[in-house]
Amino acid sequence: MSVYEHEVKALLSQAGVPVPRGVVIRDLDFAAAGDLAEPLVLKAFGPGLVHKSDAGAVVLGLRAADLAAAAAEMRSRLPDVAGFLVEEQADAGVELIVGAVRDVAFGPVLLAGLGGVWTEALRDTALGLCPISERDARRMLASLRGAPLLHGFRGTPPVDVDALVKLLMTVGGPGGVWERLELGEFELNPVIAGPSGVVAVDARHVPAESGETAADRRTADFLPLFEPKAVAVVGASTTRPNFGNMFLDFYKSAGIPLVAVHPEADEVAGVRAVPSLAHTEVDYALVAVPAGRCPEVVRQAAGVPFVQVMSGGFGEAGRAGLEDELVEAARAAGTRLLGPNCMGVYCPRGRQTFVGGGLGPAGSVALISQSGGLAGEVIKVGEQRGLAFSRVVTVGNAADVTPAELLRWLAKDPETGAVGLYLEDPRDGRELYEALRATDLPVVLLVGGRSGQGRQAAASHTGGMVSDRRIWETVAEQAGAALVSSQDDLIGVLAFFQAHGTRVTEGDGVLVVGPSGGASVLAADAFDAAGVRLDPLPGDVLDELRGLGVAASGNPLEVPVGPLGRAGLVPEVIDVIVRRRPCRDVVAHVNVQAFFTYGNAAEPLYAYTRALAGAQGALPRTRVTLVTRNGECAPTGVEDEVRRIAAEAGIPVYRTMEAASVAITGAVAAGGRYGTA
Ligand code: ADP
Ligand code: MG
Repeated sequence: MSVYEHEVKALLSQAGVPVPRGVVIRDLDFAAAGDLAEPLVLKAFGPGLVHKSDAGAVVLGLRAADLAAAAAEMRSRLPDVAGFLVEEQADAGVELIVGAVRDVAFGPVLLAGLGGVWTEALRDTALGLCPISERDARRMLASLRGAPLLHGFRGTPPVDVDALVKLLMTVGGPGGVWERLELGEFELNPVIAGPSGVVAVDARHVPAESGETAADRRTADFLPLFEPKAVAVVGASTTRPNFGNMFLDFYKSAGIPLVAVHPEADEVAGVRAVPSLAHTEVDYALVAVPAGRCPEVVRQAAGVPFVQVMSGGFGEAGRAGLEDELVEAARAAGTRLLGPNCMGVYCPRGRQTFVGGGLGPAGSVALISQSGGLAGEVIKVGEQRGLAFSRVVTVGNAADVTPAELLRWLAKDPETGAVGLYLEDPRDGRELYEALRATDLPVVLLVGGRSGQGRQAAASHTGGMVSDRRIWETVAEQAGAALVSSQDDLIGVLAFFQAHGTRVTEGDGVLVVGPSGGASVLAADAFDAAGVRLDPLPGDVLDELRGLGVAASGNPLEVPVGPLGRAGLVPEVIDVIVRRRPCRDVVAHVNVQAFFTYGNAAEPLYAYTRALAGAQGALPRTRVTLVTRNGECAPTGVEDEVRRIAAEAGIPVYRTMEAASVAITGAVAAGGRYGTA
């Protein structure tokens, strides 16, 4: 049931949203309209009248004397007229749409767009998660493609943007209209914005079918999950080695106390076996038996704080009933469930693992992943690239333990300094958004299924629908998280956080330094594409640069870097510039190929890296990043050594300028709370 326009307008007016002056007429006596200033607008309302203009139920530009005739004409044409709204006609201006909806995953979302009746055709809209801040309101308006129309375009006067911001806040801000409505759909279309104010000339509200149920926000202590005293594996076979046997092997080599669960055997692959989880004393059990048997296994898990169901074949395969049964079993046993449809937990500190090849170094990077395979790749590739992990956890369908609950715990974990998230369906998007906002840690988000095609793949993978790409962008923007679009960039941004973790920077510019030529030009383009402006150098450094033999003066700054160049030149140049004007980020790039085309010049490359390491040491308030372009031209092992030298000084290394620019943009997006003074 929708609420009539004049009823919504009364509520809006009370809340402080400007609406036209008007009267409601139920008989055909229009005397009450006598007080209104012409021109007037006549609108019929009634149970079936939703899109009034389509039905011919709106007439503009009337005089008071014309009202009765116009109303009689409408009545003769329209079946269900319950009455009329007569209101003053607002002056023409820029027409906007302002609406609010309850997103299935993220809850109340505010939408603002240009176009009024043309909204659908223009598709020029911006989103904000309620409650928005004033900064969010301004960001939303500024992000519209048609934003110039608001500021006076081709002779039209600029509109009152402050009044528009106030309207957005009244609707979507703290304590706003969105909180008072049972949000199904709510829409002001159009809002007419002019030079001296804004007015909502149409309003529509369709209440939600049912109210939301308050989510219970649990937070377990996850320490025993990551650092269990002992572990059980359910599902390893004595005859046909399977996933369970593989995990037994991994745990054996990790050296953690271990027990197998097997219905008959006393021993599986050299590991002591017991008939059920009821016979174990462990903090964590990994279950790899066919889906249908999982609820029965989990029912025996009383006393085991965490059970992880690796098996697939639940919600993601269209068997939501079986997934519910699994969650019920976990509740009944008093255990917390991870998964189903995932891999495991990885924590070198806790000898917890689900990947082969031994444990890597313990570090400060955490990862929560809805894909087990991806988590395994990020661990292995990330460690190759120098990442060291504090906690990695895969949650698959997240039927019980959700990414949000884990994030809340990690935010307080003293071992964790940065968090990566790979999500397909967070289960409760609003809870995740709130957890993201609440954490002080830098977070990087990779979301699978943001495109229509990806969504189909995701639906068959983790089950459930992923909210659309624009909501994720809004979530990242409002919560202050970096949003990336590839696994490589997820690792790259985490590497940046790890390297520069506690560094507090000064200034806000980016300086790019490296050899001259096309690479420098392309570097500028890469940063431009990432939305990072490279400021010109301060004018008074040019003489000093010339003194160092550097003739150029741009940013990117072109300096001789190569096997024959002086290793210390770049650090000297950086020092000259940063001393004049603090610089948040310095990106030094080298062409590795130039060092090896005319012989093996690994040593000059190392010397250059060491010099850069020295520069980072001397500049505690600047983040130095190294880009080793064309690294594939170096003999095996050279890049590793460059990375090692750089890592010791807290310098992250990238192979491309694009990857470096994504990392720096990510650090800025996750900033505010991180890395800035
Ligand atoms: P609909 O149900 O078709 O959306 P509206 O109430 O939005 O009906 O009216 C249709 C159009 O008429 C609006 O898009 C707007 O351009 C114009 N309009 C309606 N009311 C007013 C008003 N009070 N002042 C000026 N223009 C109005
Ligand atoms: Mg309308």
